Amino acid sequence: MSSDSKVINLAQGSEPHTRTVSGFPGLPVFEPGWVWLVGAGPGDPGLLTLHAVNALQQADVIVHDALVSENILGMAAPETEIIYSGKRGGKPSAKQRDISAKLVELARAGKRVLRLKGGDPFVFGRGGEEALALVEAGIHFRIVPGITAGIGGLAYAGIPATHRDTNHAVTFITGHMAGGDVPENLDWTAIAKGSPAIVLHMALSHLDAITKIMIEAGRSPSEPMALVRNATLPDQLVLETTLGRAAVDVARTGFSGPAIIAIGEIVRMRDSLDWLGAMSGKTLRTDPLGTRGALNAG
Ligand code: SAH
Repeated sequence: MSSDSKVINLAQGSEPHTRTVSGFPGLPVFEPGWVWLVGAGPGDPGLLTLHAVNALQQADVIVHDALVSENILGMAAPETEIIYSGKRGGKPSAKQRDISAKLVELARAGKRVLRLKGGDPFVFGRGGEEALALVEAGIHFRIVPGITAGIGGLAYAGIPATHRDTNHAVTFITGHMAGGDVPENLDWTAIAKGSPAIVLHMALSHLDAITKIMIEAGRSPSEPMALVRNATLPDQLVLETTLGRAAVDVARTGFSGPAIIAIGEIVRMRDSLDWLGAMSGKTLRTDPLGTRGALNAG
């Protein structure tokens, strides 16, 4: 540890009391003056954790992002104050500094502050930045992980993040820097060569640039790719394409975000694992990779 770092003990030896929610005992009591940074998952309320439900039931105030659905906010107690901190309807987006300052202010006023974020707060969600601001201000906090769109959202499209026959690694990338540009400090060539499966958040507006970079770095233009819009929500929409065609297909179909994007052989698994599609009559294949014959022959 460097000599100029400070160690702050936020727990002060006080274990929070517990309560029972819907028959599940042992969930923490939300103490006044605390901030809980909670992941709300990709949208389907059924993907909330018990900790998230527990938080929604006790919070005095909820500060939420654009990707938290109305259905989920509707689970809060009627008197809960709800503050929107995302970007919507052309309004300028709230500055990260201001959001962190608001959390500190509300906690200092003795509120139970629920900071509710889409997906997982620590996956391209700036949860770390907000938690650091709380540490600096000496505010007690709890982190509740959520199901990230990068895994759970793809699962609702029948795409596994890993599968033994396709990939032993997966790389999560944000296609968008704070300033709005394609991330330049990434070694795209190394990723293109080394990662059999790539999952992109926030990449729709830079799709043309990103797919070109990846093809230039050696990836095949015919590699399967899927874009999942509003994953896990009733209007989920999946566009299946390839690395080479993706940008044209997106423009041609007017496909818009929020979308989670998968690149690699994992996308082929959808032919067999699109369980939502099967519910509406799609026939699932039994050999999506066409390997069964080869395996049997071996
Ligand atoms: N913390 C979030 C990511 C926030 S960044 C998480 O763990 O998922 C916002 C991006 O996440 C969106 O631009 C989109 O790429 C992705 N995303 C979040 N929810 C989504 C959903 N329901 N459907 C598709 N993409 C989603």
